[in-house]
Amino acid sequence: MTRVHNFSAGPAALPQPVLEKAQSQLLDIAGTGRSIMEMSHRSALYSEVDHQAKVRLRDLLGLGSEFEIMFLQGGASSQFMMLPMNFLEEEHTAGYLDTGRWSAKAITEARRFGQVDVLFSSEDDAYRRVPEAGTFEVDPQWTYLHYTSNNTVAGTQFPYEPHAGEVPLACDASSDLLSRAITPDTYGLIYAGAQKNVGPAGVTIVIIRRDFLERSRVSGEIPTILRYRTHAEKIFNTPPVFNVYMVGLVLEWLQEQGGVAHFEELSHRKAGLIYEEIDRDGFYEGAVEAGSRSLMNVTFRLADRALEERFLEEASEEKLMGLKGHRSVGGVRASLYNAVPLASAEALAQFMRSFREQYG
Ligand code: PMP
Repeated sequence: MTRVHNFSAGPAALPQPVLEKAQSQLLDIAGTGRSIMEMSHRSALYSEVDHQAKVRLRDLLGLGSEFEIMFLQGGASSQFMMLPMNFLEEEHTAGYLDTGRWSAKAITEARRFGQVDVLFSSEDDAYRRVPEAGTFEVDPQWTYLHYTSNNTVAGTQFPYEPHAGEVPLACDASSDLLSRAITPDTYGLIYAGAQKNVGPAGVTIVIIRRDFLERSRVSGEIPTILRYRTHAEKIFNTPPVFNVYMVGLVLEWLQEQGGVAHFEELSHRKAGLIYEEIDRDGFYEGAVEAGSRSLMNVTFRLADRALEERFLEEASEEKLMGLKGHRSVGGVRASLYNAVPLASAEALAQFMRSFREQYG
C-alpha cells in the first residue's frame, strides 16, 4: 500500500491514525460485535459517540455552554438556505461579504427570504481578495453579518474576524474550521461541511449561540426538519452516524496533536513553505493578493501557462495528488488542511524547486 501526498480541496485527506482506528473498529466497536453503522442512533453507544464529539469540539474551539452543536445533513450548501430561512423575513436585512463562489451562492439563497446588503464584493477582481479590516460599515439593524472565512476556490482567507459590534456573525467556515483560534462570542452561528478539515463528506457541523437561536423565526411555514430549533433540542431523526463517528475520531486526533494552537502554527509553516517558492522569482505567480492569501488553499499559476499541465503530470508521478486548480481559476491549488502532514508540504516545495530548475 502506498499513501500519496494528498492536496485535494475536498473531500480531503484524513489523518492516517483516524483511518486505521476506524478500520480496527469496523467489524466490532467496543465489543458489541457490530460496527457503529449497524446499531440504533438511540443506542447508548451512539449517544456517547455523538456526545463525545460535541464535548471535543467545545474543548477545541473554546465554546461555552451558551452554544449548541448540531450534526446536520445537506452539506454547507443547505446552510446557505437554512440560515436565512430561519432568521430573515421580508422586512429584515442581513449583511453579506461577497468574497467568492460560495459566498455568492449564500447570497443567492438569502435573497429568497429577505433583504440582503452586500457591503463588499471582489467578484469583479476574480475574487482575488477579501476586504481589509475596518473598511466596511456594519448596520446595527442587520439580523446577522455573513462571511466566508476561507474561500476554497480562489484561495483567499480573512486574516482577521470581522468586527460586527452587536450584530451576530454568521460564518461559513467549511474550509478552515479548527485550523485556527476563533473568538466564539462574536458568532451567532458557524457552519462547516466536514469534508475538508473535520471528517468525511455527509455531515455538516452547525454551531449556534442560544440567544441567537432564540431569535429565529417560530413560523409554522418552515418545515420541521429545516428549523434549527428542531435539531437544537435533540437528535431529531437518523443522523449520518458513521460520519459523526469519523468526525469524533478526527476531533480526538486534533486534541492529541495539541489542539487548534498546534494546527494554527503548523498551517503557517506548511503554507509558508509553498508561498516561499511562489515568491522566489517570477516562475510561479500567486493567484491572489498577498494580504488575502489562504493558509488552507494555496493557489498559484505558472508564469508560462503552457507548463501547467506538465507541472501537474510530473507532480502526480511524484505522488503529489489533487493539485489541479478549480476549473473556474485554473492553475494549481494545494490544499493544506489539518490532516496534510508537514512532510507533504515539504515534498511539494521540493518538487516546485526541481521543476523550476528543469524548466525555468
Ligand atoms: N462553502 C465553502 C467555503 C466550500 O468550500 C464548500 C465546498 N467546497 C461549500 C460551502 C459547499 O459545501 P457542500 O458541498 O458541503 O454543500
